Amino acid sequence: MYVFGEAVLVGGDKMSQKGKLLIIGFGPGHEQHMTIRAKEAILESDSIIGYNTYVDLIRPLLTNQTIVRTGMTEEVSRAQEAVRQAEQGKKVAVISSGDAGVYGMAGLVYEVLIEKGWKEKTGVEVEIIPGVSAINSVGSLLGAPIMHDACTISLSDHLTPWELIKKRIDAAAQADFVIALYNPKSGRRTKQIEEAQRILLLHRSPDTPVGLVKSAYRDRQHIVMTKLSEMLEHEIGMLTTVIIGNGSTFMYDGKMITPRGYQRKYTLGTDKQPLKPHQRLREENEPWALHNGSEQEQAPQSLRSLAEEALGKLNVPAKPPKAIDKKEDLFKQEAIFEFAVSPGLANKKITSQQLLTIVQIIGEDGEVEYTTDHQLKVEMKTSNPSEVTAKLEEKGFMLHPVGDVVTIKACDFCDGDKGESIPQLNDIHELVGGEQVPKRLSIGFNGCGMACYGAPTNDIGVIYRKKGFDLFLGAKTTGRNAHVGQLVAEGMNGDELVRMVVKVVRDFQERGLPNERFHKFFKRVQVIEGYRFREVPDPIPVDMACGD
Ligand code: SAH
Repeated sequence: MYVFGEAVLVGGDKMSQKGKLLIIGFGPGHEQHMTIRAKEAILESDSIIGYNTYVDLIRPLLTNQTIVRTGMTEEVSRAQEAVRQAEQGKKVAVISSGDAGVYGMAGLVYEVLIEKGWKEKTGVEVEIIPGVSAINSVGSLLGAPIMHDACTISLSDHLTPWELIKKRIDAAAQADFVIALYNPKSGRRTKQIEEAQRILLLHRSPDTPVGLVKSAYRDRQHIVMTKLSEMLEHEIGMLTTVIIGNGSTFMYDGKMITPRGYQRKYTLGTDKQPLKPHQRLREENEPWALHNGSEQEQAPQSLRSLAEEALGKLNVPAKPPKAIDKKEDLFKQEAIFEFAVSPGLANKKITSQQLLTIVQIIGEDGEVEYTTDHQLKVEMKTSNPSEVTAKLEEKGFMLHPVGDVVTIKACDFCDGDKGESIPQLNDIHELVGGEQVPKRLSIGFNGCGMACYGAPTNDIGVIYRKKGFDLFLGAKTTGRNAHVGQLVAEGMNGDELVRMVVKVVRDFQERGLPNERFHKFFKRVQVIEGYRFREVPDPIPVDMACGD
């Protein structure tokens, strides 16, 4: 049923001979997010047809148009009335929130027209005016959650069978789409969102970021950042759009962000090591892209076949290309996970059980490298890094990120016999270990004056003696002119030492230039936390025994 509204004035000059249907998407609700054409169309229309709330939202723009207000479920009568009035020669604006072509009135109006045998050439004119749909407006308030392949699913089973909606949720979840759930819940429809969450959890991590936005760009706008397992603990209603992240979506500083592509390499905590432009679309870096066989790239003889031919001559069997063809593999989004493990900071002994666990976890393709940081660096493919780290931690391993981070290299404190300074070592690790720095920073920590693990040869060196701690800064750790760090303080007490080391690291984080080594940083800034840089004399030039 439709109700004819207050204003009944139909200006004669506005009447055109042939009517027109203006199907308008007016955006999320605020006038600033309405297109200029949408505003013009409202102004040039003779009558406005729309759901009550929508008419109220655009009321400030109305002049003397006839208003046909209808309730929520009366879309069909709204469309019929619009067509009827247009056929009488009126310019009729049919308004939808967001975009009229997204769960809006556009399709319905065409259906009514088609039923009447309408043809563009002979029938009333139809103009569809695009608007900002909820997926866009809501997305903008959450951060950048859409970014990659995304889809919208309406949970309203008013016009669509629930079984079909369920299938779509399942397929979208499997295919790792970012999903915008429209019409998630209403007074009577409360079970659908629960069922949707259950299906999504079959394919996605409970920690998947989820954003809930109610009344975007309207007076009662409300934004909630949550995760898949907890989304039902928050208010979801008719005016909410629910955005479910994909396997790569993350939360950062209260924003929900989906990266443009799938990360190939990442490490603990720090994550992002995107490929440089020239590395992109190479098969070894982005194996999922269409390489051999894509039209642009089909050279007369591909690099792979050249390589295979060469290998054939050497009698080395060429490895078949690793195709990601199984559906499950594709959607699992395996990426290379890089991290390091050690049995502890002071403990250097790895048990056979621990070694066995590494072997089982990394499988046949994973690789372990023993590094100069007394760590085993692991590189493996996985779609579930948290499962990997949990298993290793369960076996007593300590996990470390790799890359430009703070690493701490301690001695074994004579098998723990000289372990008085271990608490300070642990404090430093707790406070700065693994943190991001402009360039890899190693802290060497030795438990006695013998310093047999060479603490002063690290960027920051700490030696404990009975009288206290000695601090060294700015060793040049590599090269022919390598030198130990400068002794900047002697006999510090434990608290003082921890405080100073943390301050020095923080200073490097704040003032260090990207990729600047710590010793260069010290030379450039001259003073770090009151410690003044002293020039190290240039080494005496010698003839290199080999090479130059
Ligand atoms: N044509 C509209 C969608 C209409 S279906 C569009 O393109 O946006 C109604 C659903 O849209 C609501 O249940 C809600 O999920 C979503 N929606 C519309 N406007 C919204 C807004 N301002 N804020 C949040 N969600 C909105």
